[in-house]
Formats: sequence, C-alpha cells, structure tokens
Amino acid sequence: MLGLMQSQQLLISTLIDFADRHHGEAEVVSRRVEGDIHRSNYKQVAARSRQVANGLDRWNLGFGDRVATLAWNGYRHLELYFGISGSGRVVHTLNPRLHPDQIAWIVNHAEDQVLCFDLSFLPIVQAVHSRCRTVKRYIALCDENRLPADSGIPGLISYEAWIGAESSRYEWPDFEENCASSLCYTSGTTGNPKGVLYSHRSTVLHAMAGAFPDSLNLSARDSILPVVPMFHVNAWGIPYGAAMTGAKLVFPGPAMDGKSIYELLESEKVNFAAGVPTVWQMLLSHMQNANLRFSTLKRTVIGGSACPPAMMVAFNDVYGVEVLHAWGMTEMSPLGTVCSLKNKHLMQNAEDQRTVRLTQGRSIYGVDMKIVDDNGQELPWDGLAFGDLLVKGPWVCSEYFREEGSARLVDGWFNTGDVATIDADGYMHITDRSKDVIKSGGEWISSIDVENIAMAHPAVAMAACIGIKHPKWDERPIIAVMKKQGADVTREALLAFYDGKSAKWQIPDDVVFVDAIPLGGTGKMQKSKLREMLQDYRLPNT
Ligand code: ADP
Repeated sequence: MLGLMQSQQLLISTLIDFADRHHGEAEVVSRRVEGDIHRSNYKQVAARSRQVANGLDRWNLGFGDRVATLAWNGYRHLELYFGISGSGRVVHTLNPRLHPDQIAWIVNHAEDQVLCFDLSFLPIVQAVHSRCRTVKRYIALCDENRLPADSGIPGLISYEAWIGAESSRYEWPDFEENCASSLCYTSGTTGNPKGVLYSHRSTVLHAMAGAFPDSLNLSARDSILPVVPMFHVNAWGIPYGAAMTGAKLVFPGPAMDGKSIYELLESEKVNFAAGVPTVWQMLLSHMQNANLRFSTLKRTVIGGSACPPAMMVAFNDVYGVEVLHAWGMTEMSPLGTVCSLKNKHLMQNAEDQRTVRLTQGRSIYGVDMKIVDDNGQELPWDGLAFGDLLVKGPWVCSEYFREEGSARLVDGWFNTGDVATIDADGYMHITDRSKDVIKSGGEWISSIDVENIAMAHPAVAMAACIGIKHPKWDERPIIAVMKKQGADVTREALLAFYDGKSAKWQIPDDVVFVDAIPLGGTGKMQKSKLREMLQDYRLPNT
C-alpha cells in the first residue's frame, strides 16, 4: 500500500522557487572580478536563472547536456547553478587552478557543450578552446561593454547580452529526481581526474542535512560567506542550503586574500563562514598583523584537510569564533561528518571539549560509516582501533562518470581512502590519508599529528610531513616547513619543540625549510608534488 501524500520530485528548481517566493528580499552580495561590490537578492537571482534556462532552451540544448563553468563565487555563477540544473541540464564546475591540459581533458571527457567563464580565466579559455572538441558556445560572465575584442574565441558573447535577450518567465520542467544535476571532477593525484555526477535528489537531500542544527545550522537569520569555491564540490552545498533556508549569501569573487575577506566579513555582517585551513591561515595572519577583531563572525566551518589545533585555538580563544570541524570529499557531495558537541560534552572543561572538537565529528543523518581492517572486518568504535574508513548514503557516489565499475566500492560501501578511528560516541578522527601514513618499523605515524605540532610553533606558517625511505625503519618522517614572514626558527629548535608533545619515535628525523609548500587546486597541501621536490633528499645519518 502506498502512502497518500503528494509525490513531488526533489528538484533543484524547487530550491530557487522557494527562495524566490519566501525569501525574495534576502540578499546575495558579490565582490566582482571588476573589483566592485554587487548587490542582488533571491528574487533577482531566480528571475535571471529563468532567463538562463530560456537561453539554453533557445539553443536546443538537450536534457542532461553539460554546461561548464569556470568561475569564482558570485551571483552569476549562482544563477547558472539554478538555470542550468533547473532546466534539466548538468552544470559542470571546472576548477581553474588545474593545469590547462587537465582542463581540456576534463572538458572533452565530460563532453561539455557550452563554457561560461569569468574574465579572469580568459587566458585559460584562450589556451584550451581549440582543443575542446564538443564546446559550441562560449559565454563571458560580464557586461556587454566588457566583452574583450579580438579574444580569438569563436562566437564569444557576453552573459548579460545573452540572458538580457530572454524572458524571465519560465516554467521549470518536472522530471525524475534521480536525474543528473551537476558534475565535479576530483583532482586525481594519480591517474586521470574522475567525474562525480550528482543528482537532484542527492543535492537536495545533502543541502537539507547540511542545514540541520548539528551540521552547518543554516537559517534565514544568517549571513554566510562561503570562501570554499563554487568550482569545487558546489561550495560544500552552501548555495543550495542557503536558498533552502533563505540565508543571505556573501560571495568573495576572486579576492581570497586575508584583507579582502576580512573587509567583506565586516561590511556584510557575516556571522558564518566556510573555508579550508590554508585560506583561514591567510585571514588569521592578516588579523594578527593588523590587530583586528571580528564584530559579527560567530561560527566557521573548517574542512577539506585537518584543522590544526593552533588554528582552532586562535579562532575560539582569541577571536571568540566557534570552529565546526567537518570532513567529507568530492565523492560525498561533500559532507560526511560535522563536529558538534553532544549534551554530555557541555559539562566538560574547555580542554576536553577541544579534544572532541578536533576530531572530524559524527555522521549527519544520511551518511553511515564504519572502519575496517585489511580483511574487511569491522573494527570497534573505541577511539583506538584504526582502519580504512568506508561510507554509504544517498549523496555518496556509486560510480564515476563514464568509468563504469570504477568507484572504490566494497559491498556497497565506498572506500574513502582515509584511515580513521571512531569513538564510542560516534566521533570519527582521521588519522591520515592512507597514502600519506608513514610506516616506520612496523608502526604507523600520522603525518597530520606531526604537522599539527609544527603548526603550533609561532614561526611556522605551514608544515607538511612526508615519509622518506629508510634502510632500517622502512620509512621515517621529515617535516617541510615554510616560515612565517619575518619569523625565524632553527632546525634544532623546531625538533626540540616536539619534546613532550609526541612519542620519541614519532618525532621527525629532519626539518627541511622551503620557500613554499605546493598547494593543489583546492588549496590543500600537495604531498605528491612535495615528494617530487624532495626526490634527491637523503635522511641525515643514512
Ligand atoms: P580532492 O579530491 O581534490 O582531494 P576532496 O575534497 O574530495 O578533494 O578531498 C577529500 C579528502 O580530504 C578526504 O578524503 C580527506 O582525506 C581530506 N579531508 C577532508 N576534510 C578533512 C578534515 N576535516 N580532516 C582531515 N582530512 C580531511
């Protein structure tokens, strides 16, 4: 017997329709590539996303066809999110930080039909367009009078002229909620990038779970600044969650430096922001140097890589900002766990609470997880046993786009490639990425633990730990360190800094000072590049 409730498909168009009708005046503020601040709201975003949909219909773009974007966080990108997916096409967000050869490869693999780009990325498009075999239309996300003359890109038109010619009246089509809505390729440290193809249903459910109080806790009273890019995993689903709740959105555009972000946080009364540790490091450095305080920021979600304890202390104790540590991956839309406390933790002292907050948190409804040993046997949730972390749920990928059977599935569970512990309360702690763990004398050393200690040293801006081959111990850790500007520390002093903070055998064998630590397309440390950089390095006394 079926239930007798209306069956409405969970479509992305319902999110913008809702924001339009119920939160039409809620603001969408963007710093543009031009440098100015642009003000819009959900009513206008909704109207303009319907113009996008009409424009795509006029070109007879097929259902499920891919429309690529190469764009910063901004209102036009948001309009494309809703216009493309809402009309039944797939928005394919390209990561501009990838090498142009990789971008061309991805565009061809996805068979993108249209490519929309911010003018900052004109040089990339100029470099790749002749290789993009399937792209028939190029759209510059700018006003007509800013359209570059002689760009060399065939048929290039401006976004404003394109949608300006279209009506804002449009009836969103109704279709199966499992249809594809958006596509994002993982950077793929080995092999070719892999496409993760989200559906309307997965996106709406993920946004809903992301808005829960124990997840990101989004509401109509929030002013949210996602520093996390819309070009990578849909800015952690925040644009959808914001439309679902009527939260104000503040987009930083291309200006990710500490000063610009700080200015925007203050001028737009932002109370919630989301970013990866490397970006927050720039913000905190700026605040420390200029002796600034936040007047409205209350919460920030940090994820993408482990939040260094020193960063959590700075946010919480110095600036009064609550840090929500979160974990996920492209293949998970991305949210898997968020670290909010349970009632029992509220009785604990600050130090014990911090120990909990530094874990990656507990599952949000929808994502189940377990840890298993090398034989696939489930390990206990005792906070000690560590093993491969597997997940499943309606917003976890079941296979990669056009790579049948390629996903890392074990009996329906997706193998995340992370190694973790889970405690009795369900709090998961990432020990390491399985490929970054250092195996020393049969024991495992967490590269994250080694990095976190170095990051707590006042002279260290960034630190990355990698394993180096060792004749006796198999591998030994070393730490590559980028110093803070104007600060100094010696190798000996930094190694001495580990005393009492870590077991002797887990202390790195050496410190290598570097000018910069290579960062990947999403602002994470790229250890594969670092290993290449240090391929001729030899451990002392070997
Ligand atoms: P990419 O595929 O480009 O590496 P993802 O965002 O998909 O980017 O990366 C997912 C991985 O990032 C996870 O598997 C995990 O190793 C790491 N990660 C994400 N969040 C955290 C976190 N809070 N702590 C530690 N590692 C994290």
